[in-house]
Amino acid sequence: MTETTVIENGIVFTMDKNQTVLDPGYVVIQDDKVVEVGDGSPRSGLITDSKIDAKRKAVLPGLIDSHYHSIALHRGGIDGLLAKGMDKAFDEFYYPMLERMTPEDVYNEASLAYLECIKAGITTVNDMYRHITACADAAEKIGIRAVISSEAADLFPGQESLSDNENAFKLKNGAANGRVKIWFGAEWIPVCSPEFYSKARELATKYGTGLHIHLAESLGEVEICKKKYGKRPGEHMFDLDVLGRDVLAAHCVWLSDKEIRLLKETGTAVSTCPISNLKLGNGIARLHDMVIAGLRIGIGTDAYMNNLDMFDVMKYASILQKGSRADASSMPSYEKAFCMATIEGAAALQMDREIGSIERGKKADIILVDLNLPKFQPILRGRFANILPNLVYGAHGENVDTVIVDGRVLVENGELKMVDQQVIFENARKSAERVNEA
Ligand SMILES: [Zn+2]
Repeated sequence: MTETTVIENGIVFTMDKNQTVLDPGYVVIQDDKVVEVGDGSPRSGLITDSKIDAKRKAVLPGLIDSHYHSIALHRGGIDGLLAKGMDKAFDEFYYPMLERMTPEDVYNEASLAYLECIKAGITTVNDMYRHITACADAAEKIGIRAVISSEAADLFPGQESLSDNENAFKLKNGAANGRVKIWFGAEWIPVCSPEFYSKARELATKYGTGLHIHLAESLGEVEICKKKYGKRPGEHMFDLDVLGRDVLAAHCVWLSDKEIRLLKETGTAVSTCPISNLKLGNGIARLHDMVIAGLRIGIGTDAYMNNLDMFDVMKYASILQKGSRADASSMPSYEKAFCMATIEGAAALQMDREIGSIERGKKADIILVDLNLPKFQPILRGRFANILPNLVYGAHGENVDTVIVDGRVLVENGELKMVDQQVIFENARKSAERVNEA
């Protein structure tokens, strides 16, 4: 039976190709899809099962975290080690820890991380992790939309393999009404051989799915690549025929002009993760130059942030460029940063026909942000219209009031409707203790 929900009285930022704002506007959802978006109020006589009053709220497309790992169990606890260097933390802690994790631990961890995403308005994650059938199970349960790939590698013992990734594809791709998609994933150049990248590329092509990689994240990685292969990471990937429209390369901090050209030529998408890059001491990406070059770019939280807050990441993506280039006109602007977290993030995942904007026929992945807070006042229209800049530069995940994914209301008035978060917190704590003692 069809279920109809109406969101009314809100200020709707559709993010359609004209970036139409409806003030006030309404959205009609039937089952998992948006069937009508309009100005004013819905036609009289429309029979609805439920109504959501969006008065004093912004109605936005759900945020898309285009580079993410379901790492939550050691949040903050390894910051001391990270401060000694990312490569050291990976080799001494992160990779050995991954090896100790059971599928149940990953399920508990991913459940916590997805839950946090949902509450903060992130409706889609591009997750690269381990035991990914357990991640897929967690995504199904929590209700988030997830693209999931293995953090696979062949040059460090005990890591996920491409066969693990392939098995997960066969089991879980398209699960939960298509809400779960499986891609192939490769960790990074220091722990992946050229043959391994070629195999990952071959599998993504064979199954008609995407490929998620890390690229040019740290200066150490660039040095290793130059020493081993005599070229920079982007050139290495290009020469291996890995790049393409179905590839999303995370970070891309240390790109030369030539590498930016190679990404453009091959249509490869980028996910920029400015807060992760700052915290792990990896530098500031040439995001302005990548935007000007016309690359497809999304925004990601990555991992080891102490919260999963895409509003923070949008803000950093924008203001870091302006500050580091000493030029307030540097890209991305707040509008562009918002595009990168919504419709352009969807395009980076080749999902912009499905999600990323509030338009007829698209999936109903929609969030409401409470504007009835001092920091958003006064609300201005016209020449000094201020809602979008105040959202990008001033909002936080906690200001998200309602979250709908695939037409299901997962969060209402800030409260989870489908799952008991205390159970998830407790399971995550138990898993963290078990992994630490193992
Ligand atoms: Zn990453």
